[in-house]
Amino acid sequence: MSSNRRDFLKGSVAAAAVGSLSTVAAPGRAAASSQGDVVFQRRVTVRHDVDVFVAGGGPAGVAAAVAAARQGARVFLAERNSCLGGMGTAGMLPLFMPFTDGVHMLAGGVGADIQRRLQENGGTGPGSDVTIRAEVLKRVYDDLLLEAKVQFLFHAQLIAVESDAGQVSAAILSGKSGLFAVKARVYLDCTGDGDLAAWAGAPFEKGDEHGNMMAGTLCSLWADIDWSAVNQGGRASDESRLEDAIRDKVFTHEDRHLPGMFRVGQHTGGGNIGHTFGLDSTDERSITAALVGARKSLLEYERYYKEYLKGFAQMELVATAAQLGARESRRVLGDYVLNLEDFKSRAVFPDEIGRYSYPVDIHAAKPDRASYERYAEDFKNLRYGAGESYGIPYRCLVPQMLTNVLVAGRCVSTDRYMQSSIRVMPGCFITGQAIGVAAAMCAQQDCDTRGVSATELQRRLKHAGAFLPNC
Ligand SMILES: Cc1cc2nc3c(=O)[nH]c(=O)nc-3n(C[C@H](O)[C@H](O)[C@H](O)COP(=O)(O)OP(=O)(O)OC[C@H]3O[C@@H](n4cnc5c(N)ncnc54)[C@H](O)[C@@H]3O)c2cc1C
Repeated sequence: MSSNRRDFLKGSVAAAAVGSLSTVAAPGRAAASSQGDVVFQRRVTVRHDVDVFVAGGGPAGVAAAVAAARQGARVFLAERNSCLGGMGTAGMLPLFMPFTDGVHMLAGGVGADIQRRLQENGGTGPGSDVTIRAEVLKRVYDDLLLEAKVQFLFHAQLIAVESDAGQVSAAILSGKSGLFAVKARVYLDCTGDGDLAAWAGAPFEKGDEHGNMMAGTLCSLWADIDWSAVNQGGRASDESRLEDAIRDKVFTHEDRHLPGMFRVGQHTGGGNIGHTFGLDSTDERSITAALVGARKSLLEYERYYKEYLKGFAQMELVATAAQLGARESRRVLGDYVLNLEDFKSRAVFPDEIGRYSYPVDIHAAKPDRASYERYAEDFKNLRYGAGESYGIPYRCLVPQMLTNVLVAGRCVSTDRYMQSSIRVMPGCFITGQAIGVAAAMCAQQDCDTRGVSATELQRRLKHAGAFLPNC
């Protein structure tokens, strides 16, 4: 839904979008449901004129906004949900993947601050330092942004960008009060889906060679779990009785992958349970179908937990997440595409902005045994020993064709293997922090995103706490 109109007036911007639904929708499906086009034009007030605009307040957006503000930049962040945190809060994810490689803190700086504050505020579940009590995490994020003096709004959705010759000149947002615009020197795409970069004209890839993407999950919160019974005699994996239940026809899909239930309170559990197959999180029609299906499938999992596993007999569903969990959508193509060979070689880059180590974790796109076995094989084999990691070059965060846009989080420039590793939240803190610092440098030095000195960026990132042992 990008527009190239250059029709600026003082304090307002004219936004135009033609056939808005069809431009955002997935190719093919849009044509099938198109009812013709409308021309849509509005004069929109510029409400914020800042150094750095951040679209999306998930782990990547929070880290980017705070890092930029800590460098002295004036930052505005727009979040479409009612809280910061993305999948870790609105998405009800029950836990963080590792912040370390088993030896070094990899998500140093903003990521480590968040982890420390979460623990200090009682935001992790009993006996764990990685499970998440989402309501505490929401407050941790609020405070972090307030302290850094980041301006932010909830229920503010990026719906379009104005751009010309690879340069974005305004972001168009939709809020309860109507449409408004934000102008910035640098625009940071932390939407998880690469909305801003794609609408501004950056090339991207999606899924495998057939367009298949990892299944999503609607996470959930459950009460009245007897955790002592669950853990009695050493807890077996939640997957341990799946074959029995599949044989007994408990499930509609023969899905052999069940990440499971995680203790987030005295009697509560956060469920990363069930998969939504065929999800395209850049298409609201696909999201709607997935939500409807996921809510139904939780009835099947409730039966499974109650009848096949110990300690869950009384469990009760409290809530499903406000944000459907999408593991994969667009991968915005940047000046470098991080790839499986880099994982295998524990790559070092001259422009690296951090290092990460989570295994290759490509959830199956289809619920058949062969797809599950391919996932399990990669997850077992494509992993590191303690102290090992791969470098993340700055070039992965710089979208091709664009001069004042940077990307962080799960949609950075990688192949599918690397996306499945770097997408977890500590990885998003690392890339988010890097683009925040880089964006502040662009604003201060009046340069575009390719004019940033890698050496100076690394110096600032190290000072902020990033793990950069090779420079
Ligand atoms: C089911 C599931 C389980 C997972 N399990 C784990 C786990 O156990 N541990 C772990 O560390 N990671 C896990 N991950 C991965 C991780 O949660 C995500 O990849 C990570 O949150 C991505 O961060 P992000 O900031 O890029 O995107 P998100 O967390 O999705 O945040 C993006 C934010 O941008 C906002 N946004 C999007 N579009 C717009 C727009 N147009 N305008 C305004 N705002 C917008 C969204 O509302 C959201 O708040 C899991 C992911 C899924 C889906």
